[in-house]
Amino acid sequence: MLTVEKTIRWLNLFGQKVEEKKVYLSELDQAIGDGDHGTNMARGTAAMKTVLEQKAYDTVQDVLKTAGMALLSKIGGASGPLYGSAFIGMAKQAGEGAADVSAILEAGLEGIRKRGNAEAGDKTMVDVWLPAVDAVKNKELSRERIDEWVKATEPMKAKKGRASYLGERSIGHMDPGAVSSGLLFESMIEEGVL
Ligand code: ADP
Ligand code: MG
Ligand code: MG
Repeated sequence: MLTVEKTIRWLNLFGQKVEEKKVYLSELDQAIGDGDHGTNMARGTAAMKTVLEQKAYDTVQDVLKTAGMALLSKIGGASGPLYGSAFIGMAKQAGEGAADVSAILEAGLEGIRKRGNAEAGDKTMVDVWLPAVDAVKNKELSRERIDEWVKATEPMKAKKGRASYLGERSIGHMDPGAVSSGLLFESMIEEGVL
């Protein structure tokens, strides 16, 4: 069950984790991309924090939508529109009721897939979102499992995004967007959102 307060705590913890891991996320992106994923994400989550502090929110839908607009306009790169679409998708679904967290996350995944067309195994954030949605449905999301999905992107060959330009050379590195998405799901566990 998501409430306004819980959702804000969840998103602020996500922002805190992104800020803490900013350098690491960019280092990961240095290996298979252009080295900006950490700064992109930190810029987005800082903007998100600001808008979440700016006013009082009445609905979970409004929180997710406003957060999504901030992420969409401030992250930039490929991941900005993807996180933006995830949050806008989640907001729409939250308008139907905030009790079913797995339905909300599923709508977020749908948003990412519609925007980016990535499939399982393409070495993107989808490789974390997809199993996470399933695990939330089955009430078996855990930090250990999140770690497994993130690490599982290491041997994958990138088929989408900048990393795909490297072909075989993308193998052997974790996907930065999978790592940042892992932080989002870890934050859910820690804030007791599930
Ligand atoms: P850019 O590649 O434009 O510099 P970022 O570095 O911020 O953007 O984000 C890169 C991340 O975006 C990748 O690690 C990957 O997880 C994600 N990504 C890229 N393309 C796609 C896609 N088509 N579908 C899902 N995720 C994607
Ligand atoms: Mg990048
Ligand atoms: Mg970039």
